[in-house]
Formats: sequence, structure tokens, C-alpha cells
Amino acid sequence: MYEHILVPTDGSDTAELAVEHALDLAEQYGAEVHALYVVDTNAMSLSLGGEQLDRIEQGHYGEMDEVRERAENATGYVADSARELGIDTVEHVSAGRPHDMIANYVADNDIDLVVMGSHGRTGVRRALLGSVTERTLRSTRAPVLVIDADEE
Ligand code: ATP
Ligand code: MN
Repeated sequence: MYEHILVPTDGSDTAELAVEHALDLAEQYGAEVHALYVVDTNAMSLSLGGEQLDRIEQGHYGEMDEVRERAENATGYVADSARELGIDTVEHVSAGRPHDMIANYVADNDIDLVVMGSHGRTGVRRALLGSVTERTLRSTRAPVLVIDADEE
């Protein structure tokens, strides 16, 4: 049923909780796990120009060490955890609006399940769902498994 599982991650504790679920499912189904971090241009467009965003897409961060570190830590956590279990992973970083990039990635990579957190690192906890998760649900036809931030 599931062969290509996507975990969109912002490196938050809740996203890491989602990783646990994704890896367990990947083991059950023999699926490959994809980790996607999106450099959020909603949040960064004031400080970064379009040229810089293009370069991020190509993996050239130049002076943007902080951006690189956050991205690589987020996807690296998924890859490292998966490797311990012998699960194949693909790491990817893109730049744009997170839910758009997640929906595009799903369509372009035959993703048949998305596993993500209810919340992330930027939000306040009053809403039931963070905006990236809510918009992803509205932007893709793939099944999306949402892991609650308060799960122990
Ligand atoms: P908000 O962003 O609306 O202020 P929030 O940060 O609490 O609230 P979301 O950003 O929607 O909530 O995060 C929910 C989940 O979406 C995260 O656990 C993660 O799986 C995914 N996610 C959030 N931001 C990104 C991102 N930049 N790249 C990839 N995945 C992301
Ligand atoms: Mn967020």
C-alpha cells in the first residue's frame, strides 16, 4: 500500500514524533522514507532575495550557514534514525511556501503517504493544527497522517 512515505520536517519536536511513526510504517511496509525541509520564503523573503532562494534550491548556501544548518539538521535527523533501522531515505531541501513545496513534492515523487506533526516550531498552541499542516491537507490528495504534538 505504502512505498514512498514523505515526512515534511521543520526540525521541531513534534516533527520528530512524526518521524517515529513514519519509520515504524516504513518498516511494516518496506517503504522508502523521504525527508523534506522547506526554507520558508513567507518567513524569509524579507531578508533573502530570489537569487539566494534559487541557490538554496541548488544546495549552495554561501554565507547562509544558519539556513543550511537548520535544514540539514532537520532532514539529517530523519536519515540518521532511518539508517539505524536499515530503511532507505532520500533527503531534500527546497525553498518556497512550505505547503506548496510539500504538495509539489508529493506529486513529483510518487508519494503515497505523508506523515507530519500537528504543530511545528513557529506556532502558538492555541490552534488545533498549525498552518502548514492545515494547508497541506487542502493542497494534496495523498493520505496525510497527522501526529499530535501532545502525544507522549
Ligand atoms: P504556524 O507555522 O502556523 O505558526 P506551527 O509551527 O505550530 O504553526 P506548522 O508549521 O503547521 O505548525 O507545523 C506542523 C508540521 O508541518 C510540522 O510538525 C512539520 O511536520 C511540518 N512543517 C512545518 N514547517 C515546515 C517546513 N518549513 N518544512 C517542512 N515541513 C514543515
Ligand atoms: Mn510553523
